[in-house]
Formats: sequence, C-alpha cells, structure tokens
Amino acid sequence: MSELAKYTKQLSELLKSSDNILLICHINPDGDAIGSQLALYHYLNSAGRNVQMLSPNKLQEFLKWMDAVEKISIFTDDRNKCIRMIEYSDLIVLLDFNQQNRLGEAEKHVMNSKSKKVIIDHHLMPRNIADLIISDPSKCSTTELIYKLVEGINGGPFNDKSFSEAVYVGIVTDTGNFSHGNYSGDTLRIVAGLLETGIEKERILDRVYNNYSADRMRLLGLALNQRMTVIPESKTAFICLTRQDLREYNHVMGDTEGFVNLPLSIKGIIFSVLFIEKSNHIKLSFRSKGSFPVNEFASRYFAGGGHLNASGGEYFDTLENTVSYFLKALKENKIAVNDDE
Ligand code: 5GP
Ligand code: MN
Repeated sequence: MSELAKYTKQLSELLKSSDNILLICHINPDGDAIGSQLALYHYLNSAGRNVQMLSPNKLQEFLKWMDAVEKISIFTDDRNKCIRMIEYSDLIVLLDFNQQNRLGEAEKHVMNSKSKKVIIDHHLMPRNIADLIISDPSKCSTTELIYKLVEGINGGPFNDKSFSEAVYVGIVTDTGNFSHGNYSGDTLRIVAGLLETGIEKERILDRVYNNYSADRMRLLGLALNQRMTVIPESKTAFICLTRQDLREYNHVMGDTEGFVNLPLSIKGIIFSVLFIEKSNHIKLSFRSKGSFPVNEFASRYFAGGGHLNASGGEYFDTLENTVSYFLKALKENKIAVNDDE
C-alpha cells in the first residue's frame, strides 16, 4: 500500500469515527493555510459532516473573498467561542503546520484538549504532537495533499467549484504562482482538473495578487531603496524594517508579504533575509535558491523552521543586535552559502 493510500485510509477512519470536526490553521494564515482549511471544509460539509473552522488570528485581505471564509472563527477576536469550539470537538485537524507554537494563543487550549488530533502538512520535520501525522514534504502545498486525500476518500475527484478555488489558492500562493517551490507534474495535473471545474483563474489571481494599498507599494520602495544591504561575497542580501517604517506607511498585516523574495532576483544572490521589528522581538524571513537549507539555518540560530528554500524564525533582541548576531551566523555558514553556484 502506498504511503498516500495508507494516510487516506487512516484519515477516513478517523473522520468516520468523529462527530464534531474542528479544522485549525496556523497563526498569520497564508493562502495555503486558509486554502487547505476551506477545501477540507467544503468537502466535509457537502458530505453532511459537522465541521467548524478556527484561525489563531485575523485573516489578510487577499483571502477574505473566498467562499465560506466568513465561517472561520478568529481566536483573538472571539476567545470564549473558540475555546468552546475546541472543547466541543472530538477531532481536531491541524493544517499546514507541525509545531504547536504556530497555534498562537490557542496553543494551550488545543494541546490540552482531549480530542483526537491529526496534522495534515507539507513542512519538514513534523513534531510528534498529534495522534495521526499526515506529512508529505514532496507536495508543493498542503492543499495539494488535501486534494489527493479527498480524492481517495471520495473515490474520485471532488468536482466542486469552491473546493477547487481553495485548492488552487493554496497551490498558487505556495509556489509564487508557479515560480518556486517543489511543484511537480502531478501538481499541474491536479491544476488541470481544478480548471475543468470552472474556476475563474484570472479573477482569483487578481484577488490574490492585486490587492495592495498605495502605502504598501511605497513601503516596498523604501525597503528596496534604503533598507536593503547586499553582501556579494556571501551571496546574501537582507532588508530591515523598523516599527517606525511600518507606522509611517500605515502598515497592515500582509503588507510585507513577498518582500523577502525580491533580493533573490539580484544576480548572484542566493540567500535573502527580511528582518521586521515587532514590539518585543524581531521576526525573520529567509529565502534561498538552490541547496542552501534556510530551514536548518532558521532552526539553528532563530528558533524557527520551514522549508528548504523558505523559512522563518524569531529573535528576542533589538534590531541592531539581531543583525549583528545574523552576520556572525552568516560567517559560520559562509562555505555552505558560497557552495552553491
Ligand atoms: P514567511 O517567511 O513567509 O513568514 O514563512 C515562510 C515559511 O517559514 C512558512 O511556510 C513557515 O512554514 C515557516 N515559518 C515562518 N515563520 C516561522 C517560525 O517562526 N517558526 C517556524 N517553525 N516556521 C516558520
Ligand atoms: Mn503551505
């Protein structure tokens, strides 16, 4: 039996033996987190199951158009209701993450809950925090994995437009609209099936990508023009944004999304970092090209993790000290960084 067939059977049995299913995505949910949550919701809902959705915190504007998105309860907005939902459930499905701190303020409630838990995820190194861990890092997105699992449980493709839109959003956002990430021939075959259900891809892409404020464009200008440092000998570039910068440009959540990818388009740069000053720590985003494993770098120096070429982490110090610490870490990794041509 293939790994996928085994997972499909195990998930199907867990779903069958549960009455109240709760789907939870990670904090600061991206397109794949919400996409996989909504895709699974649409399938289970159409199958007549009791299913609810929870996000640890607010959603970004570019996802708010999606079908059934208003049914997602936000933990930081509606604590008591969300705690009741967690207590009421008998199966919790954790989507697009595998570390409990990605549950934000919902962490202790979810982890202390007696419900059965299942992780469906495509990040490396899943932590042992659930009864069933469905992990496939060869998939470009969690929605791709959801698509295959649902296809197995359903006994064939689930041809539903809302489901297809949600899967498409996850695949598109996690691959930068098919420009990076490990998407495969199989991903494109799935996408072919999605398009055949009648989803309007131009409309979806417009809602996902053309949703920014003028202030965000100006903040990007500042970031590239005045806040970027290029270290050619380390094939590295990094951008630092202070709280003052964000305030000045009326920053809203999601505005800095994508900034970290841009230095990789400089010839010779294979490692890019974005430092964002938060109220009591620095949030870091890492991107690389080729074999330099930013997930290992993030985990070793910044208590983080993620994918080989896209990771994140955090550091509890000033921006200045974080940058110094990073530069030291970079020196230690010089050979690895310089290894890749
Ligand atoms: P981003 O840079 O877009 O915020 O995150 C890129 C990837 O890194 C995400 O898919 C996520 O898996 C991972 N990531 C981001 N921040 C963290 C973090 O603080 N801890 C861990 N373990 N992973 C993170
Ligand atoms: Mn993902």
